[in-house]
Amino acid sequence: MTSFSTLVAVVTGGGSGIGAAITAAFRARGARVGVLDLHPGDPADGLLPVTADVTDRGSLEAATAAVAEAFGGIDILVNSAGIGAVGPVEGNDDAEWHRVLDVNVVGIARATTAALPYLRRSRHGAIVNLSSIAANAGLVQRALYSASKGAVHSLTLAMAADLVGEGIRVNCLAPGTVDTPWVQRLLARTGDPEAERARLAARQPTGRLVTADEVAAAAAYLASPEAGATTGMSLAVDGGMSGL
Ligand code: NAD
Repeated sequence: MTSFSTLVAVVTGGGSGIGAAITAAFRARGARVGVLDLHPGDPADGLLPVTADVTDRGSLEAATAAVAEAFGGIDILVNSAGIGAVGPVEGNDDAEWHRVLDVNVVGIARATTAALPYLRRSRHGAIVNLSSIAANAGLVQRALYSASKGAVHSLTLAMAADLVGEGIRVNCLAPGTVDTPWVQRLLARTGDPEAERARLAARQPTGRLVTADEVAAAAAYLASPEAGATTGMSLAVDGGMSGL
């Protein structure tokens, strides 16, 4: 079995939250990682931050090529860059619908297109997309965000079908509410952040928020050669929210 430590990963959105935890988990397992983000952070041993915007095909192509050049190829792509939206179906104007779908859905298509020439040369090509509990539970005030994450789930299935014959696996993660800077920003906007945190925690049968490290461990499994028989799947990391 090929060791994870020989692999190279690209993580979009790796500058914060879940993407940063995935980057750390991959580094801890010895893989080298290129972080593609608007704010990619600082370089370190085995870690190459590259400024890139998932709404800009050219910036993704250049950043992906820079990672492949630095580390000698790419085996894994994690699509974690994403943005939120709050409101019912009539709550966001056309510009906001286009902006969120452009980042959360088209961004995955662009980053994948940029990475595929390298993944096709790998013996262990794997893609992990960040969907959400919002894809399969009716969350209130999340119409646009839920639509974008439902699309990520469907896109994952279609990509998996197209790429299985080339030995590239495609899966997605569907986290519940994860304690990241994104969620902390949302909490800070409410009148009573601690009460809102307790409400979100109570929604998950485990009674607490998911940690970014728990999502990262699931990403490391799906990306690893040990998951060689798993493709076209969505793995819930949601404190039991969708299953119980
Ligand atoms: P976060 O805001 O902490 O991190 C998101 C990262 O994406 C940031 O570093 C940001 O700079 C980057 N990003 C945003 N737009 C970008 C663009 N156009 N180009 C490049 N990078 C861009 O958010 P998070 O909570 O870590 O969420 C990461 C992913 O996980 C998202 O796709 C989100 O939808 C998904 N998710 C989050 C939760 C949660 O509760 N936090 C739950 C389910 C799914």
